[in-house]
Amino acid sequence: RKPVIAIDGYSSTGKSSISKVIAKKLGLIHMDTGALYRGVTFFAINECSDENGKIDLEKLFKKLNDIHLEFKKIDEELILFLNGNDISKEIRTNEVSGNVSLIACQKEVRDYLMETQRSIAQKGGVIMDGRDIGTVVLPDADYKFFLTASIDERTKRRFLELQSLGIENSETEVRENLISRDKIDSERAVAPLKKADDAILVDNSKMTKEETIDYILSFIS
Ligand code: C5P
Repeated sequence: RKPVIAIDGYSSTGKSSISKVIAKKLGLIHMDTGALYRGVTFFAINECSDENGKIDLEKLFKKLNDIHLEFKKIDEELILFLNGNDISKEIRTNEVSGNVSLIACQKEVRDYLMETQRSIAQKGGVIMDGRDIGTVVLPDADYKFFLTASIDERTKRRFLELQSLGIENSETEVRENLISRDKIDSERAVAPLKKADDAILVDNSKMTKEETIDYILSFIS
């Protein structure tokens, strides 16, 4: 049976891009769970905003069953579809990043996404990245890692990533969004962002992506 690997940690520590490479090397499915929360947020902004542009959470909870999120493999990449539409670019906008942590705090939303996440790991052979994978979603994962890095390094990484996606941002905006999301994610009542007791801590402030991958792989037999 192929392993189940949980990768949690702070925003922009490279969780997703690292998981993608490890998945390829070990022949695992990679699931970026942050994309699911971003997908729900994108839906909420478009379908559940009140006249002032504020998200109406009660409306969202009533409409959760109208949200069908699925990953489709296109050119070896998993692309997120919402009700049949490719939303992989839309979920990276500043508007989604600015609202996602509020949406991710809601127990209703977390419960709704739980099934999608757990069902994919049932047969093994998966690497899943997020905030609560090792603690809540897959507490019995074979391997757990918790990624962290300095805020300066993470800001630099996210800034370059957004630039490559053609999304306009100042470094200050990027930094503030990371700090704010990490704070909300760590302090929320349901499934807060925290290291599982049995997770291996990886501070990659001074490591390249390749070094981080090699370090993680060194634990996996
Ligand atoms: O991973 P990414 O930065 O795209 O995640 C976006 C947001 O989704 C996080 O800031 C967090 O609020 C939420 N999230 C979560 N639990 C997960 C994955 C993401 O609460 N497992």
